[in-house]
Amino acid sequence: MRKIAVLGATGSIGASTLDVVARHPDRFRVTALAAHRSVSALAELCTKFRPELAVIADPAREAELRARLAAAGVACRVAAGADALVEAASGTHCDTVVAAIVGAAGLESTLAAARAGKRLLLANKEAIVMAGPLLLAALAEGGGELLPLDSEHNAVFQCLPGGRPDLGRAGVRRLLLTASGGPFRGLTVADLADVTPERACAHPNWRMGRKISVDSATLMNKGLEVIEAHYLFDAPAERIDVVVHRQSIVHSLVEYVDGSVLAQLGNPDMRTAIAYGLAWPERVETGVAPLDLLALARLDFEAPDLATFRCLALAYQALRAGGTATTTLNAANEEAVAAFLDHRLPFLAIAQTIERCLEALPSAPASDLATLLDADLTARRQAQRIIRELGIGNRE
Ligand code: NAD
Ligand code: MG
Repeated sequence: MRKIAVLGATGSIGASTLDVVARHPDRFRVTALAAHRSVSALAELCTKFRPELAVIADPAREAELRARLAAAGVACRVAAGADALVEAASGTHCDTVVAAIVGAAGLESTLAAARAGKRLLLANKEAIVMAGPLLLAALAEGGGELLPLDSEHNAVFQCLPGGRPDLGRAGVRRLLLTASGGPFRGLTVADLADVTPERACAHPNWRMGRKISVDSATLMNKGLEVIEAHYLFDAPAERIDVVVHRQSIVHSLVEYVDGSVLAQLGNPDMRTAIAYGLAWPERVETGVAPLDLLALARLDFEAPDLATFRCLALAYQALRAGGTATTTLNAANEEAVAAFLDHRLPFLAIAQTIERCLEALPSAPASDLATLLDADLTARRQAQRIIRELGIGNRE
């Protein structure tokens, strides 16, 4: 029986995870559930899954969570705050952690799960972009395993023998990450000047949280994924390519030196990748509809438009710079996306904010957590200044 902690239980990945878990009560048990602020949603999940531990990140909501659980007759331990997230990720109640908090807020608990030797199912890509070397060191220290939930990395993992080999020895020439192109594929810079958060969040193929939806619209999501692939598979930037594939059926590919290209295909539904991580090395039913190739009839591929979607180029630039540059990129992006979602920043200024932050803050070696947290904070402050300059109401 796998004992599972789901961090970010009330989000899109959390919901898909719990859907898979509920299909296999003989294999999977939820032992901890954590969320940010949505007390009623968390209490409902606790009522259904009966974990040992319920964590609400915002301490101001702890009393309400206790009251709701008591009223529902759920007898589980309740805790709140950052330390409680770490406990949920590293306590003896679980052997598996689904890291599905969005953004830098998930870093500490993701690192804690790795250090504690859990099976880490990583959705929280911002953690590895911010602190890749530290996460890998924590994994090595804990002796656990990391299985990527991001569909592209999950696909690459499935196409590599043993999941994570020495790419040179395995005869890998390059990794090809597919990108849907997001809701604005094919548009020009002029078309993008006035797009709204609502349009940016209307993804054609995937239903996801708002932050990653905007990242998909800017192509920063693919940029973060290039960096994620670099750390997960020890692949240099020049061996990671992005190909736009609007149907989101081929989730990624691995090209070998002998001319073979292996791909993983499936309908765009995160439950496939999540179930693969939960059950690995076995496979289990997910409720995902079988792929109907004849109904699809065709699959299209094209090059990404890096001139219009600057964020992808900036992510490559940060990866090549190394050190704290990817931490800066991630922090500036989080601030800019939040400002865009809040109607404070135009869509195109997201990339401008990140570019200016990377210019202003030279990369330093990413030696320890304190250095990275400092780089994160410095980049956020810098981004806030730039956002005030470029922000809506400040133009003209
Ligand atoms: P979401 O916004 O739907 O859910 C986010 C979850 O994180 C919620 O449960 C929320 O309560 C929790 N959370 C937010 N801030 C928190 C904080 N400060 N402390 C504790 N918990 C906090 O997001 P999502 O779409 O589920 O994405 C989650 C992560 O998975 C992101 O890193 C995203 O990039 C990654 N991911 C998502 C998908 C997808 O299909 N949704 C695919 C690949 C990767
Ligand atoms: Mg992805």
